[in-house]
Amino acid sequence: MFANVIILAANKNIDREYSYRIPQSFSEKIKIGTKILVPFGRKKKLSEAIIINLSDKIDIEPEKLKSIEKIDPQNIFVSQNHIQLAKWMSEKYFCTLAACLKLMIPSKKSLTKSFALNNSYESIKSDVKNLTVEQLNAIKFIENKISQKDLRPILLHGVTGSGKTEVYFNIIQKIIDDGKQAIVLLPEIALTTQMVNLFYERFGDKVGITHSKLTEREKFIQWQNAAQNKISIMLGPRSAIFTPFKNLGLIIMDEEHEASYQSETTPKYNTREVAEKICEFTGANLILGSATPSVETYFRVQNHQINLIKMPTRVNKKVPKIKIVDMRKELADGNVNIFSRELIFEMQNTFDRNEQVILFLNRRGHSSFVSCRNCGFVLKCNMCDVNYTFHSAENFLICHYCGQKSILPKICPECGSKYIKLLGVGTQKIENEIKKIFPDKNILRMDSDTTSKKSDYERILKSFATKKTDILIGTQMIAKGLNFPNLSLVGIICADISLNIGDFHCSESTFQLLSQVSGRAGRAQTNALSIIQTYNPEHYSIVCAKDGDYKKFYDQEIMFRQQMNYPPFTNIFCILMTLPDKNLLDEKISLLKKVLMRCNKNNQFQILGPAPAAISKIKNNYRQKILIKHENETKLKNFALFSINLLASKNLLDGVKLNLTMNPNFML
Ligand code: ADP
Ligand code: ZN
Ligand code: ZN
Repeated sequence: MFANVIILAANKNIDREYSYRIPQSFSEKIKIGTKILVPFGRKKKLSEAIIINLSDKIDIEPEKLKSIEKIDPQNIFVSQNHIQLAKWMSEKYFCTLAACLKLMIPSKKSLTKSFALNNSYESIKSDVKNLTVEQLNAIKFIENKISQKDLRPILLHGVTGSGKTEVYFNIIQKIIDDGKQAIVLLPEIALTTQMVNLFYERFGDKVGITHSKLTEREKFIQWQNAAQNKISIMLGPRSAIFTPFKNLGLIIMDEEHEASYQSETTPKYNTREVAEKICEFTGANLILGSATPSVETYFRVQNHQINLIKMPTRVNKKVPKIKIVDMRKELADGNVNIFSRELIFEMQNTFDRNEQVILFLNRRGHSSFVSCRNCGFVLKCNMCDVNYTFHSAENFLICHYCGQKSILPKICPECGSKYIKLLGVGTQKIENEIKKIFPDKNILRMDSDTTSKKSDYERILKSFATKKTDILIGTQMIAKGLNFPNLSLVGIICADISLNIGDFHCSESTFQLLSQVSGRAGRAQTNALSIIQTYNPEHYSIVCAKDGDYKKFYDQEIMFRQQMNYPPFTNIFCILMTLPDKNLLDEKISLLKKVLMRCNKNNQFQILGPAPAAISKIKNNYRQKILIKHENETKLKNFALFSINLLASKNLLDGVKLNLTMNPNFML
């Protein structure tokens, strides 16, 4: 017998099947998927490999083949379904099969170091709930789809506080009663909160959990527990999608719109696509839960590719109060501060009631854009309808899609005011300013500067939860999954920041963020209020978030996507090129553009750029990108790869780092 194996440490050049002889003594213990150790190349140490095929005939003379030397002592294996999945992923996400297979097994790093799994989840006994009519309906709907073997994903569109967790619990219980298992995906941050406790309380030791804070050893134990059927539910971030359950019945993706479901490291998989593929292989059902579904998902609902069940009311019937403050008016009235009079007034009210405040800065990445503080006007590229990004070094405005440049105007082209300038505030600035206004309040800041260690994050949250902090200032990090009963005011400092990140997704992510952040305040409070400060008070992302009107938002957004030819109406393939030498980068990317243009018969493909990457320089490496659009994903992929390979075959891309992504979630 012979085995075809993939070497796990393989790079692109050796990412193919190699044949080995199976020694007689192993023949009983070896099957497809078994992890083994083989001699490879000139290496002294044995190499780890996965068997992906067995055969009794082979083209090469058997004597010339090396033998498998060992079977992995940990009994690690990859199921047939996972091998099939890995093959699909390596094609779809332009990466090695080895890299995909590695996602499906625990890494062997530090397996020797053993820590007891930290099971310090306190048991909060919650009372048995009478399900609401909406919950009962949702459960019945999902059960029907499962029993009809309707494998289309189910979107559970439930507003914040509508009680989606209870729906999940009831469906999971059914799945377990059927002798099957469930994977529950949560954004990383939710894995440290009450959600996990609730699962333990409901399902006890049937629950496994995996997240980035576990050691490799702990992750291995979780993997093994699942493979050996010791648990029936795995909670985790996107990587938990690869849990090796034998009889998977259900995948739940809570907060399906979350950007963290898109892997940013190779393999750059989209968790929803992977989940759907797994369901196709295993017959499991997929539930997508969200209060603000991604536009892509909702588009597929409209096309009947996804089933929809809605839960439009909060269990406690409270509707969050949201106010929009027009910052242009503040300026007109002579207030040049970053805080509106209303926000300061409401902060004082909140402190008078002995309650707490969160000030939220919806900053993402390194956006810097120019806008008019008098009228809200933002300079946009008229071809791409995304705002120009300001590059201070060159003192230029550049469209990050097509590369078009513009000079910085001295006065606003719309209203003639001189208040047109770089709009940007940092959390540090907010902290300094707020200290001046409320000098006796305890203020903490949570952003990437103040949370370099994991413990910082917990320390800050604890301080806020125990009311030692009056004001918490933060970025994205504080937006999600956090529940503070004494928090009654959320101030969104400048909604325009996320609206102008130079990416066609920005209306969507702003709507999602604003909806989510406003949902933070007052889960229990009666006085709860969110204040959104903005220079664009009429923008549909902001208005619809205020009104809690998802459908209206979606209808506007999908129209924009269609008009401007953006996904889901087309596909965008992003080629990101990185080089330490700026001139060489310019030369190479122009060359690539030229080849792409030449291969582009009949102008089938729309080629944009070169343009700077969202972050145009990282660690002394310059980054530029080319975007290619086409409605057929396969054609688009083939076209791009063909052109790249053409250059590579002439050694014209030597030393160049290329990063390829189909439909990136946000601009690279
Ligand atoms: P969602 O995930 O949809 O935002 P949750 O599942 O967190 O909502 O539920 C919101 C709150 O309502 C939780 O505190 C939960 O305990 C409570 N809850 C859920 N269902 C019921 C019910 N049927 N009766 C009373 N309280 C409920
Ligand atoms: Zn203006
Ligand atoms: Zn443009």
